[in-house]
Amino acid sequence: MKQEKMLYLETFGCQMNVSDSEKIVALMKGIGYGRTEDPRQADLILLNTCSIRAKAEQRVYGHLGKFKSIKSRNPRLIIGVGGCVAQQEGERLLQKAPFVNLVFGTHNIHLLQEMVSGAERGERRIETDFIDDEKRFDLFPATDVEAGVTRFVTVMQGCDNFCSYCIVPHVRGREISRSAAKIVEEIRALAAAGVTEVTLLGQNVNSYGRGGADEPDFPGLLRMVAEVDGIERIRFTTSHPKDLSDTLVYCFSQINKLAPHIHLPAQSGSDRILKAMNRGYTRTEYLRKVALLKQACPEIQITGDIIVGFPGEDEAAFAETLTLLDEVGYADLFSFVYSPRPGTQAAELEDSTEYAVKQQRLDRLQQKQKRSTLELNRSLVGTVQQVLVEGASSTGDCLFGRTGGNRGTLLDGAPSLAGKVIPVRIVEGLQTLLKGEVLH
Ligand code: SF4
Repeated sequence: MKQEKMLYLETFGCQMNVSDSEKIVALMKGIGYGRTEDPRQADLILLNTCSIRAKAEQRVYGHLGKFKSIKSRNPRLIIGVGGCVAQQEGERLLQKAPFVNLVFGTHNIHLLQEMVSGAERGERRIETDFIDDEKRFDLFPATDVEAGVTRFVTVMQGCDNFCSYCIVPHVRGREISRSAAKIVEEIRALAAAGVTEVTLLGQNVNSYGRGGADEPDFPGLLRMVAEVDGIERIRFTTSHPKDLSDTLVYCFSQINKLAPHIHLPAQSGSDRILKAMNRGYTRTEYLRKVALLKQACPEIQITGDIIVGFPGEDEAAFAETLTLLDEVGYADLFSFVYSPRPGTQAAELEDSTEYAVKQQRLDRLQQKQKRSTLELNRSLVGTVQQVLVEGASSTGDCLFGRTGGNRGTLLDGAPSLAGKVIPVRIVEGLQTLLKGEVLH
């Protein structure tokens, strides 16, 4: 006989969604749902969705089609959709997929327990209202802190930047920062539960604290977090280049616990395209910040995002993006072909470049970056890196950890090393991973 109800949860998109999914799991546990990896065994299927790219949205509808057939065999199955697609689509989602029971927006996860309980009694419900003050953060339960070496901690949400291509300000709302005292309290609890590394999370994390007179700015918050005993490594993401202050750059030389890695999305190397994207910086300004970062922390690893084929991008503008890669020396890049999102400013722009041409540009960019990443990984051979061991590797035959620069590293060692930062000599640099040996 089945002992407990089962939740099957799929998460799409960014780390904010991953973090929200941790909260969803904790909430569902509170009303008796365990986890299953098999949707056919589930009593409740939840999708935490992303609408950054058109394909991600199509994937959600594709997945829902699959779950429809499971529901036809199990009519008591509850299906819910949350996250950015849910926020954007709202009522439309219930019309397009009438077998869906629940739609919850990005600010409504705290309502999920009562929504699911209602669905168990046969109710259908949509909640997509925004909560535009700090109460948004107070509505969540403490997440499950039983396990894990490394955890995300949300410090702010939303975005006021309105990059012309981006749906985030429309589906996540305005920027709101969480109180520093509550952030530190959560991190203390995580440290007490054995967590060693925290990643401070926000859509535009380095504008943390803006507007709150009694709260620290982001560098101030980093210093407070660095004082928490038990936390050995701090990361943050995602940084907008425009809001990367010199004070924040110098934190990389002043705060030992701050990992030497920054994700700093440039999106394009062309000033004309950056302007059309409403990014608020020029190529020169971006490169100045990169130079400052390297000066403050010579071992820093920089990763980024590039959008290829933005409306108006010609071969010359694309060539400027390619040279930007050379000048920055990215450790890794997330790169995509531009896809217009309805409701954004850029969706109205004329776009005469064929998709096939954009795809070719993306291939060229990705091949170039692949070569640089491999070169970087090989250049680390022989160096000693401080690796935070996260646990067993995905294949289970060795340990997996990350260097301060965020390079995934395989190493042999006892499972008891999990959670420890240890010196590791790099012996091999592969395309996506390093291999190392523990120094005793
Ligand atoms: S900074 Fe721009 S790309 Fe990033 S979330 Fe805000 S609007 Fe979107």
